[in-house]
Amino acid sequence: MIDESNEAVWQKALEIAKSQVPESEFIMWFRLGYLGFENGTILLRANNTFLRDQFMRKYGDFMREILSSIMGMQVNLSVEAQPSAIEQRLPLQKATASSPNTQQAAAPVETITSDEETSNNSSYPAYSRHAQESRTANLQPRYTFESFVVGENSNFAFNAAAAVAEIPGTSYNPLLIYGGVGLGKTHLMHAIGNRIAERHPELRIICVTAEDFTNEFIKTIHDRTTNEFKNKYRNIDVLLIDDIHFFQSKHGVQEELFHTFNALYDSSKQLVFTCDRPASDLKDFSERLKSRFMMGLKTDLTTPGFETRAAIIRKKLELYKRTFSEDVINLIAKSIETNVRDLDSCIHQIIAYSDLINVEPTYDIAQNIIKQLTNAFKPAAINVSSIIKIVADYYKLPISDLKGKKRSKNIALARQVAMYIIRETTDYSTTEIGSEFNSRDHTTVMHSCQKIEDLIKFDSIFASAMNRLIQECKENSST
Ligand code: ADP
Ligand code: MG
Repeated sequence: MIDESNEAVWQKALEIAKSQVPESEFIMWFRLGYLGFENGTILLRANNTFLRDQFMRKYGDFMREILSSIMGMQVNLSVEAQPSAIEQRLPLQKATASSPNTQQAAAPVETITSDEETSNNSSYPAYSRHAQESRTANLQPRYTFESFVVGENSNFAFNAAAAVAEIPGTSYNPLLIYGGVGLGKTHLMHAIGNRIAERHPELRIICVTAEDFTNEFIKTIHDRTTNEFKNKYRNIDVLLIDDIHFFQSKHGVQEELFHTFNALYDSSKQLVFTCDRPASDLKDFSERLKSRFMMGLKTDLTTPGFETRAAIIRKKLELYKRTFSEDVINLIAKSIETNVRDLDSCIHQIIAYSDLINVEPTYDIAQNIIKQLTNAFKPAAINVSSIIKIVADYYKLPISDLKGKKRSKNIALARQVAMYIIRETTDYSTTEIGSEFNSRDHTTVMHSCQKIEDLIKFDSIFASAMNRLIQECKENSST
């Protein structure tokens, strides 16, 4: 029998949790409804499986301990959630926190409703219903959740995007998806738009690149029609803006976006942004707009590992109605490590070439094409002195310090990073690299590179900073 009188215990536990976790975390992850208490288990409800899983992963044990101490007995937690159609095809982890010695841990209840449309509508904020004119304009129909391959590199981002598409404008607002080029940011953002358009034809969605948003804004200033612009962007239900790093140094449009953001956010409209770096790294950017981007859910996409790359190749081949031998699939997955866009263009080239000469894509053909492509992906010549300058700027040090003899911790780290990037992006030998740095010995260079490699392996934040720095060096230092 469910006993509802224990709700006070749950409220008390929430109060304690609130005083102990950061406010932003509390707002983000503790949106759970109390259902009851049964057989030593507190039953809760989350409005999507993403929230349930994140809550349990981050705070399941923490809450169980608080509840157990309030009640003076071992208490388990079970969170019920309704998986979305998308989530049903994902391998979701068990989400029941229970003490190891308790047998009766309740399994998560996943209410699968046959009529999703009706059941989901009940949890929606009040949306305005308007005419459908061009509401899905700019949404790329092939970028869907179904055509996105989820891997270890994109699991969180995918689930966050799916949750946003499921209940726009409520829990995760704004959603910021960031990461390097070709990793699926645009794809996921359009998938959100497509999913909302499909489920909720009454909602008005605008999907736009930061560049188009900027150009449109500039044009309205020129034509003296800024009011129309404001009306257009402030009277919608979902705003998706791709590549917000484009707004860097563009203060007029930043100002406009800030007001658009506030108008939409205040009326619980969903905002989704993508960016090539974490919002905190945006340069020449209004602090207040930056902080708006950072206040919701932030999630990054990283480069897929081998298994995921192979899965992506298979998925793409399925979409293109083609088959490659396992050999060829493995070869591509092994050789193209950069990003999904490069994987895709490799597949296209192999198909195009074998169609041209009318043969099946063999291992040899694939190998030749990969060889040409991997050369093309490597920038022709990277200028060593600009790498040193970029790294020095990044660490806010003078170039002379980087090249010189000082050995303080941050100078040494910056120097090692510069050496590592030069080795990764140029043909310089370790001896040649050493000579760029006050004639250091090649073993010093090797040691430095090894150290950075280790840091990258064990520190994912450092690793993504390095990725971005390397990207910047590639983009800005070609001779
Ligand atoms: P970004 O916006 O991050 O630069 P895109 O979203 O444009 O990257 O992705 C580049 C290409 O790779 C697109 O064709 C996209 O469909 C594809 N892609 C990226 N990630 C995935 C994925 N996980 N599964 C399937 N396709 C993907
Ligand atoms: Mg993109």
